[in-house]
Amino acid sequence: MRIRRFVRLIVCSAPLLVGALLAGMSPQMLAAQSTDTPAAPALKRAVVLTSPQQAYSLPPDKLVKAISISRIRNILNIAGSVWSIVFVWLLLATRAWAALERWTQRISNRRWIQGAAFFAAYLIIDALAGLPLDWIGQHYERSYGISVQEWGGWLGDVGKTLGLTIAIGVPILLLFNWIVRRWPRRYWLGIWAVTLPILAVLSFIEPLVVPLFFKQEPLAKNHAALVAKLETVVARTGIDIPPDRMYLLEASAKYTGINAFVAGMGATKRYVMWDTATDQLPDDEVLFVFGHESGHYVLHHIPKGFALSAVGLFFLYWMCAAFAAWIVRRFGARWGMSELHTADKDFSVGAPQLSSRTGLVVLLFSISIASFLLQPVSNAVSRHFEHQADVFGQEAIHGIVPDPQKTAVAAFNALGQSWLEDPNPNPFIEFWLYDHPSTQHRAEFALHYDPWVNGGHGEFFKN
Ligand SMILES: [Zn+2]
Repeated sequence: MRIRRFVRLIVCSAPLLVGALLAGMSPQMLAAQSTDTPAAPALKRAVVLTSPQQAYSLPPDKLVKAISISRIRNILNIAGSVWSIVFVWLLLATRAWAALERWTQRISNRRWIQGAAFFAAYLIIDALAGLPLDWIGQHYERSYGISVQEWGGWLGDVGKTLGLTIAIGVPILLLFNWIVRRWPRRYWLGIWAVTLPILAVLSFIEPLVVPLFFKQEPLAKNHAALVAKLETVVARTGIDIPPDRMYLLEASAKYTGINAFVAGMGATKRYVMWDTATDQLPDDEVLFVFGHESGHYVLHHIPKGFALSAVGLFFLYWMCAAFAAWIVRRFGARWGMSELHTADKDFSVGAPQLSSRTGLVVLLFSISIASFLLQPVSNAVSRHFEHQADVFGQEAIHGIVPDPQKTAVAAFNALGQSWLEDPNPNPFIEFWLYDHPSTQHRAEFALHYDPWVNGGHGEFFKN
């Protein structure tokens, strides 16, 4: 039920986007693994245990675990964002990127080879820098029983993700670098223009990468009866996902958490159910999960997210170009960038060093700072879409399951328990980090959402 990644793109940069998309291909992000939840104050905790109105609740032993792992996830999440910024800055300040660039200039006279070597090294160094925190995260997910993946397999996934990042990221960074050299004054506009088709292509190929990380099979292969039930929801929603576009993912080899997602565009569009969901949820709740995912398609969340990304990125790139130029003017000499520029165009305006590869790192650096600060904006949009999908999902199963409210609440409880989601996240953390409403908010809404009482109808269906 997690993330339509496109929604995240709204204020993300293209390179970060590429990272996000690639991360989405890795098991970590496909997972319903939440970017979630801090510990609730002790007082509030007592209320959780006793309040009869609590729509999402956990047995006491799981509650303690949920609060504790949520705190760890939040710390790792924020620390990861801050560290990725600080790390790049450290290598700038110690002139390491500049030294790397001079070294790559010595290995070949061909500019594209120099650039490819530099950007491949950049992506590898960046991945290595993030590895310790990823490792700590995986350690805790394993010790709390959320991940069941062995370390060898985990490292293999890390390697595959890095390989994909290099294969996709290096050509994109070369292209960006070329655009900066070619159009020194308005390069951000050029980068913006190429970002959009790149995003569309990545979204298209994304589902094709999933089999690198998970085994999958047609859902109908071993769940024919379930597919027949899903077809009743399909008929009600009018969504055009035929049974041969429904897949079952063998996620239980790596996770115990429940999840499902829609992905792809056009010919690659598909619905993917994790086997943890089919194993742990009654069919009615699987139908609700499917209804939610259908909502993302029927309500056009992917194109809407794309359009919002386009607008957001326009302003983001524009601001970051100015910010990066300021950084270079202020610190460029100190960071050893004075001699680096290779501009073959007039750079009388702005900062010529931005056309170097280290200059592109400065640009990425400014974009990652801005993205971190704007994260609450993209998450607010994402939460809105997710809430809409929740409403849609509940309406989609009306008339198909006996009690949509009960079904949805039960599904949220199963989902929350399976990932050990904190029932009482700190509101500020929810505002900043959550791309879905908290499980508590979702379950509470579901519990009280009954538009059909007194002959009414829902928001998206006429009956
Ligand atoms: Zn969703």
